[in-house]
Amino acid sequence: MFGVTSASGVDSTPGVNAPFAVDSAPGVNAALALDSACGAELDDLEDWVGRDPAGRAARAAEIERETGDEATRMRARLIRADVAERSGELRAAAEAMWLINEWAHAHGNRYLIARSHLLLGRTYRNLGDVAALLEHAVAAVEALEDTVPPRRRLPYMVKYADALTETGSIDAARERYRQAEELARHSTDPRDRMMVLNNHAYAEYLAGEPERAWAVIRRMRATAVTHGHRLDPNDLDTVASVQIALGHYEDAETTILAAITGYPDAPLEADALPEFLLTLAITRRLLGDPGNAQQTLDACREQCEAHGHGEILVRVMQEQAELYAATGAFEQAFAEHKRFHAAEKEVLSAAREAQARNRQALFEVNEARQEAEQFREQARRDPLTGLRNRRYVDEQFPGLIEQAARTGVPLWAALLDLDHFKQINDLCTHEAGDRVLVEVARLLIAAEPAGGFAARLGGEEFLLVASGMDRAQAAAFLERVRETVSAHPWQPITGDLPVTVSIGADSVPPGDKQSELLARADACLYAAKRGGRNRVCFDSATPDAAVRD
Ligand code: GH3
Ligand code: MG
Ligand code: MG
Repeated sequence: MFGVTSASGVDSTPGVNAPFAVDSAPGVNAALALDSACGAELDDLEDWVGRDPAGRAARAAEIERETGDEATRMRARLIRADVAERSGELRAAAEAMWLINEWAHAHGNRYLIARSHLLLGRTYRNLGDVAALLEHAVAAVEALEDTVPPRRRLPYMVKYADALTETGSIDAARERYRQAEELARHSTDPRDRMMVLNNHAYAEYLAGEPERAWAVIRRMRATAVTHGHRLDPNDLDTVASVQIALGHYEDAETTILAAITGYPDAPLEADALPEFLLTLAITRRLLGDPGNAQQTLDACREQCEAHGHGEILVRVMQEQAELYAATGAFEQAFAEHKRFHAAEKEVLSAAREAQARNRQALFEVNEARQEAEQFREQARRDPLTGLRNRRYVDEQFPGLIEQAARTGVPLWAALLDLDHFKQINDLCTHEAGDRVLVEVARLLIAAEPAGGFAARLGGEEFLLVASGMDRAQAAAFLERVRETVSAHPWQPITGDLPVTVSIGADSVPPGDKQSELLARADACLYAAKRGGRNRVCFDSATPDAAVRD
């Protein structure tokens, strides 16, 4: 089976039945969370969610409540979503994962973009949507590239390779396993390399290539011997599967016995033991040892009945029928076979029903997301002019200012205020005033520079944001805007009244706060008004420095 080994060297034990359900992205975050006091603990919670999910969800909820750091809160919430998904609360989980994914995109938090995609991939995969699994696995790897050290990218690369395998692209998967092996070279823990080799071997097995799988297993074993490690139950399950596929039943029996008896303390998923027992029973029948096969199968049945593994129990019936047939008890074999078919039908229809319910739930989550997005978009636009509004500015502008201060690419904020607008309302009509506002907005949208935006801050006051221009370019640009407004044919709306704008502008750097930058631009605007209106001003102290042609 597939598995992912954590940086701390303990297994994350995906279930036997869900070989691709890699539990976590162990240790990926350490490097990214150093600034957060909770970083190390969140790393640990993320890595080991699969063990004691309830306890870890409770601790994550505590962190979520107590932290003052939003990124930390989002990480903690994603852990709770992870646990919710594992316990079947699919809708709530997927909803939370999408919201965190959106938050991460809005805040450029690449780690949370990657991790939310990783978990969304697993969610969709568990619904049988392997195409979505692949999409999310790709997105997760892309989000991590460049920013994350090789060792930390490893689990994401392996997950991507597993997703390729599951979507039938074994050639592409091989290339990714090879890259993952490269990444594992950066790790000091040989179990990272073993994890890659195990997953690669299992992929070859799933692709119907047991010979190739065996070649990879030989390399995995060599790595274990070189470093004095034992194969863990995940690895042994892979080895046994390949041995059975190759017809090496005696070797397979030895391997499965080692998996069952050798690692009593291994953190196995609940259904791992009955799965091993069933494989062992099948192997013993194939070895021509029906007595031991029957004993093993009985032990397996007991486990299933005691712990409610209904799906495995159905396969126990199937194997029981095979076993009766192998010993010549054909009548019993036939009866058991009928029981098996009836039980299988029941399990299948229950599974289909659950899957349909879950698909419906995810569909609703998607619908709700789209509606929420539309609503969010609407709430960030001014209804009269369709321009961005102040809420949009407050959300987007600080990020642009911070980016400008960091990169040194100049960012211009220009405040535009219509001149003597009150007169237009008073001498024409309020409707005429509205039409002027709509028309000015149209002119601003047409002028909107790439990488910037136009917004209506309120009343007859607008903001133009432009990036990457030097002072002369900004001056020319704003002068064009001013000229466009004053030269516009306003006669049909305002008669003889002219429509002009005063513009005050300033740039980042040096300022680094939205309020400071806008205050400086506002001082310039005031200077433009004082200097006679219908002009662009870059300097609040000397209105005469206004740029006019
Ligand atoms: P100044 O050149 O100094 O900017 O003079 P002004 O008349 O433009 O400035 P003032 O702030 O005194 O007036 C702005 C007017 O804009 C007052 C208000 O009634 C009008 N106004 C604000 N919002 C709207 C709107 O949505 N539609 C219309 N028609 N008028 C509006
Ligand atoms: Mg005003
Ligand atoms: Mg005005």
